Amino acid sequence: MKKILIVEDEPSLTRILRSYLEKEGFSVITASRGDTGYDLSLTENPDLILLDLNLPGMDGMDVAREVNKQKNIPIIMVTARVEEIDKLKGLETGADDYISKPFSPREVVARVKAVLRRVEKTNPSKTKVQVLDITIDPDAHLVLRGDQELELTPSEFSLLKVMAENPGRVYSRFQLLEVIQGQAYEGYERTIDAHIKNLRIKLERDTRNPHYVKTVFGIGYRFAREDE
Ligand code: CA
Repeated sequence: MKKILIVEDEPSLTRILRSYLEKEGFSVITASRGDTGYDLSLTENPDLILLDLNLPGMDGMDVAREVNKQKNIPIIMVTARVEEIDKLKGLETGADDYISKPFSPREVVARVKAVLRRVEKTNPSKTKVQVLDITIDPDAHLVLRGDQELELTPSEFSLLKVMAENPGRVYSRFQLLEVIQGQAYEGYERTIDAHIKNLRIKLERDTRNPHYVKTVFGIGYRFAREDE
C-alpha cells in the first residue's frame, strides 16, 4: 500500500483529500505545519508528498528543498494561485508536479497516480529478488539459476523480475507489455509471447514443461509459487 503524506494547514482540504486518497487504496498521513511535515517525511518514508506552499512553521518551498537533500520522495506542490506555478517551475523547488487551488480532489488523485507511475518507471526497485533457485540482482543486472549465470536481454530481464517479485500473481500480456515499453498499445500483446518464449529458452531446463514461468491460459503469465 502506497503511503501519501499531506502537508496542509486547511483542515477541510486535508479531510477531503484524505477521504479521496483512502478510497483509492492509499494510506494517508497528515501534518498541518511545514516543520512537522518535514519531520514526518524523514521518519515515515512516504511514497509521495502533497505539499501546500504556504504553511506555518516552515514554508512549503523550504520543506521541498530540505526533503530533497535527504530523500528521493516525489513531491506535488499545491499553490493558492495558478499564476504561481510558472514562477515555481523556474525556482528548482524539486517538486515533480504542481496543482493550484481550488482543485478537484479527483484531479489530485489522478496526478498522484501519474507521478507515482512516472517515478516507478524511472526508478525500478533495486531490491534483490530470490525465489526458488533464481536470484535477480538489479544493480548488477545479473540473473542466476543456482550458480549459473543467465544472459538475458533487458526486456527478458524486466519481465522475469516483475513476475518473480510476486510469485503466483498472474500478469496479463497487456500488463507485461507496459513493463517493457512503459506504455502499452492494444494489439501488441502477442510480442510478449515472443519475449516469454525466448526467456524460457534461457531460463527453463525443459521449455515444454516450464518450471519457473507458467502460462495462464487466456490471460497471461505468472512466476511459480514456492510450493509448486
Ligand atoms: Ca496554506
